[in-house]
Amino acid sequence: MFNLKSLVFIGLFLICTILHANNRPEWFVPPPLDPTGVELETLEIDDGVFALLSNTPFADNTGFVVGENSVLVIDAHFTGEMGEQIIAAVKKVTDLPIKYLVNLNAFGDHVFGNYVFPDSTTIIAHEKTIDFLKKNSLQKRKEIISVTVGGSTGLFEEVEDRLPSVSFKTKKTLDLGNKIVELHYFGPGMSPSDTVLYVPSARAAWTGNLIFGKGSIPWARSETVSDYLKTMKKFKSKIDPVTIVAGHGKISDGSIVESYISYLEYALKLSKSLKKENIVIEDYVKQINIPAEYIIEDNIKDLMEGFHKWNVLNSYKQIKSSEYQSKTKKNLGQKVARDGKVVK
Ligand SMILES: [Zn+2]
Repeated sequence: MFNLKSLVFIGLFLICTILHANNRPEWFVPPPLDPTGVELETLEIDDGVFALLSNTPFADNTGFVVGENSVLVIDAHFTGEMGEQIIAAVKKVTDLPIKYLVNLNAFGDHVFGNYVFPDSTTIIAHEKTIDFLKKNSLQKRKEIISVTVGGSTGLFEEVEDRLPSVSFKTKKTLDLGNKIVELHYFGPGMSPSDTVLYVPSARAAWTGNLIFGKGSIPWARSETVSDYLKTMKKFKSKIDPVTIVAGHGKISDGSIVESYISYLEYALKLSKSLKKENIVIEDYVKQINIPAEYIIEDNIKDLMEGFHKWNVLNSYKQIKSSEYQSKTKKNLGQKVARDGKVVK
């Protein structure tokens, strides 16, 4: 039997192996997150609720919410320059101070812009995000994320470390003055600490990396597909957004939640049946494609096909062999007729 620790170890080993530059499977496309030349377009979703949308297919989207007393910014983007662009976008709309900045996960593209926000801005993140930031040096985090910008850390040369100072565990509610913002943690998904920001008055959610944009599938990068599925089911049972601003990709409606649940169920079922057949998974995943019922945006097709292969490969490897051994053992106790069929 695997215990939790050994599973985590196997997971980390797998990620390190797969992410290693020379070892990366040829089908894997790293998410293209280079912020060079990115312009954020301001879109008012609802009264005081603004999305900041990247003009490239997958570079980070952010946003901000304006109450009667203060402003909250969602994610700080990849560099100081991009952080400044967010601050300028807020200033075009209001003179109110940016009281809060929320980091939706621990990756550099969500936190590296933190350092250009005023000292008076309180940065909030999930406790696991802060743990990760504290345990890994800024240099190490630059190296991890450099795979998304062509492999060099040069773009982040000027980035200074500024960590969130306030944490939360499952839910935190903030009042910006007649404007409520909720922070939710539904469980691990793409990363261990994916945070969802929800504005109930607008029924709008910012989902970071937990849900990518319109026409996408999930990427179980550091967590198991089955945990991701549980997290998405919890999401569905707790909030019901009509607008979703993903950390990456196009803005979408709430139906993407159902699509993610359906896809994760599919990926889990497929990997279980492959495990049962003892398929050589590394070869098998090369020829699989995302089922046609999941409509993928044209400009992110290769990226999503890579995520799909990753999900099935890792899900297969995460399934405990004991699950199938126990089934076999159960069968031994059943009555078997002379023709070999199990008597029910
Ligand atoms: Zn991201």
